[in-house]
Amino acid sequence: MTSCASPVFDFRSDTVTRPTEDMRHAMATAQVGDDYYRDDPTVKALEARMAEMFGKESAVFTTSGTQSNLVAVMAHCARGEAYIVGHLSHSYIRELGGAAMLGGVHPQVVPNQADGTMRLEDIETALYAPSILVAPVKLLALENTINGKILPLDYLAGVSAMARHHGLSLHLDGARVFNAAAASNVPVSEITQHFDTVSVCLSKGLGAPAGSILAGSHHVIEAARRHRQALGGGLRQAGILAAAGLYGLDHHIARLSDDHRRAKCLANALVKIPGVTPELPETNMVFAQIDAQISTSFSNHLRSCNILCTGTGSKQRWVTHLDIDDQVMEATIESLSTYQGAS
Ligand SMILES: *Cc1c(COP(=O)(O)O)cnc(C)c1O
Repeated sequence: MTSCASPVFDFRSDTVTRPTEDMRHAMATAQVGDDYYRDDPTVKALEARMAEMFGKESAVFTTSGTQSNLVAVMAHCARGEAYIVGHLSHSYIRELGGAAMLGGVHPQVVPNQADGTMRLEDIETALYAPSILVAPVKLLALENTINGKILPLDYLAGVSAMARHHGLSLHLDGARVFNAAAASNVPVSEITQHFDTVSVCLSKGLGAPAGSILAGSHHVIEAARRHRQALGGGLRQAGILAAAGLYGLDHHIARLSDDHRRAKCLANALVKIPGVTPELPETNMVFAQIDAQISTSFSNHLRSCNILCTGTGSKQRWVTHLDIDDQVMEATIESLSTYQGAS
């Protein structure tokens, strides 16, 4: 019924997973109500569960990570205020400038280092002295994992102390925070404890078809709920989607380390190809540099093997996920080994 006939090996993103039969069953049999009246029991169960896992008072189900980050920024900052964000972050590059477009919140950009962190001194430099010329910075937003890299726990503790010192709120775009926790072998609360609000995607490593969660204090989450409603993100019988998220929390967290193991296998296979230089993956993403001489022939080879990844000619991104099992990995590695190089 749901199996895909085409033998495509899809490494474009962990968002491409389709709900498993068991997840679909959980969705089909979910108890639902009207979330507008706050009486959808499955949405409430998911929100309570995520708040607890993250060590926060409250949580709200959102339609996407983009919406979750946006309502978080809008809950922390008023129009004309600013938030600090890394120049490589999803929130800055890949969310259409929504904070500015819809929230009137100015992004104060700070460079990300190669390991994904922003230097504390760079953050402090971006905190200009109060002046009639300056949009006051109210929020600092981090991303973890960021391009597959994990922000170290001692770095998070340092940033959090600094943010508190300057009276800034701290938001985590934790679209893949469960990958960071799994790879660091710590409970996710070890990471989330440092933040006022945390956003996580249910539709990535956890394998749900849609949805994100924003967790934080009652006060901030109620503000975020109002923004979600204004953005058209209020849902009704959303328990059908929340059930998929709950199923993912129960069954798809422990397996994230399999994704990380397979990403390492993939990097090991890629590094054997002359002209391909993968970075050692920390989680479920492999970035590989492709020499100009082979970029066309290598892309053609991948296409002929029905292997999909993303990227430009010179840099590829491969992502492992629920639908990449050991069999798919074997077939992919076999296909990579048949590449003959540029002719
Ligand atoms: C995917 C992603 C988002 C956005 O999530 P959508 O559900 O696609 O809107 C935000 N931040 C990061 C780091 C992401 O990877």
